[in-house]
Amino acid sequence: MRRTLQTVLTVSARHFSKSTVIDNPLLKSPQVTLPLNFVQGRRVDSHGSSSFPLIAPAYGMKLRDIANSNENDVDQAVKAAKTSFRAWSEWSGFDRGLVLKRAAAIIRKRAEELARTEVLDTGKPIWEARVDILGCANTHDYYGGLAANITGDFLRLPGGSFAYTIREPLGVVAAIGAWNYPFQMASWKSAPALACGNTVVFKPSESTPLTAVMLAEIFVEAGLPEGCFNVVQGDGKTGQLLSSHPHVAKVSFTGSVQTGSKIMASCSKDVKHVTLELGGKSPLIIFADADMENAVKGAILANFTNQGQVCSNGTRVYVEERVADEFLSALIDRVAQMKVGNPSHEETTVGATISADHAKRVLGYIDLAKKEGATVAYGGERVQLDDPSLAGGYYLRPCILTACRDNMTVVKEEIFGAVMSVLTFSSEDEVITRANDSEYGLAGGVFT
Ligand code: NAD
Repeated sequence: MRRTLQTVLTVSARHFSKSTVIDNPLLKSPQVTLPLNFVQGRRVDSHGSSSFPLIAPAYGMKLRDIANSNENDVDQAVKAAKTSFRAWSEWSGFDRGLVLKRAAAIIRKRAEELARTEVLDTGKPIWEARVDILGCANTHDYYGGLAANITGDFLRLPGGSFAYTIREPLGVVAAIGAWNYPFQMASWKSAPALACGNTVVFKPSESTPLTAVMLAEIFVEAGLPEGCFNVVQGDGKTGQLLSSHPHVAKVSFTGSVQTGSKIMASCSKDVKHVTLELGGKSPLIIFADADMENAVKGAILANFTNQGQVCSNGTRVYVEERVADEFLSALIDRVAQMKVGNPSHEETTVGATISADHAKRVLGYIDLAKKEGATVAYGGERVQLDDPSLAGGYYLRPCILTACRDNMTVVKEEIFGAVMSVLTFSSEDEVITRANDSEYGLAGGVFT
């Protein structure tokens, strides 16, 4: 759904001194202007006394304010999910699966509109957003297929008796997401929960509120009964209200370790089930015998996809000493070809960082790395794009740091931005010990 309408907007004086023309019809579309909570099968407003801004990272521009969902808003959403649970949990798995498969088909049909909305919300390149959205269609198809096959066990007991087990749905699942893959968070959490017969209240990150409610509408169109999937918008306070709600049976959370630990503490009070997907600082090891071109591509993919805002990124890149120069020069050549630009353009490979605050945080880590003795071998600075409508966007050039040591802050802490630390090693035993010496444990990669 691509129109060529031009939208004339006055952008915040913080970024521009005069009006500028932005060629993005989505800015004034219903996706931006309509209510963004979804309860009992329809869009509704949230009513908190505080609000958060909806900002388009590509332009650094505020589109509107959104009220945080207050206690009553959260309560209404949980009530809708609890009321609809009984009937939904009694549907056969096969029939629940059909709903998810129909949702998958609708996602494929609306993929371009969903991807463009995701770009507006996140600032990620359009081709990446398309991959995300189509992946979500696969998620719904996958769980749609599994739903009919959720079985229990049959056990023979002495004397001709027997026992059997049944897998029961839990009830209302509260799902809370991060901002880096908004539609994926909503899909990855809701598809398995719904397939098993649970109902869901989803809270997207306050940085990316737009696409979760589109998924809610898609579910309704696919035949999901009203109230089975609800959306509440809001910041951490709303997340707290939701995760501590007494009628929530399970919390599924994706986000930082700090928030995850608070949620786990809160869930432990009422002995709620909890699943946490948290941060990482993963190692990527490149041995001298690796196919160098492939290893360079792998390191770029594992560091600079989605502006480096990926939990499982391999940001500690350990390269065997004798190929370190060869690796670095090929890496810099290739990263220099990456195009920082308008995320809506097909040729862009690096879009906008999610927010001004986050961009500042990433640049702060690079400054600290320099102070601690690292060398910036490439990038690491803010990029001012020629297009005046993008002047307020948070564009950073991917950064490659060399002369890194294991005890540097930048090597130990998750940055969640496009910053790669290159380290060298000389033996396998040494690198395995160093790679494992981390507080995190999310992912790992080896090229050999
Ligand atoms: P965050 O922890 O700040 O926020 C995540 C979500 O939690 C948001 O929706 C936020 O509103 C909510 N929240 C904040 N405080 C809360 C509270 N007290 N109670 C309940 N909810 C609360 O994380 P972020 O900045 O949105 O995301 C970045 C982090 O997410 C990084 O650490 C990244 O590694 C991690 N992440 C992990 C995965 C994974 O699958 N392991 C995937 C993506 C992101």
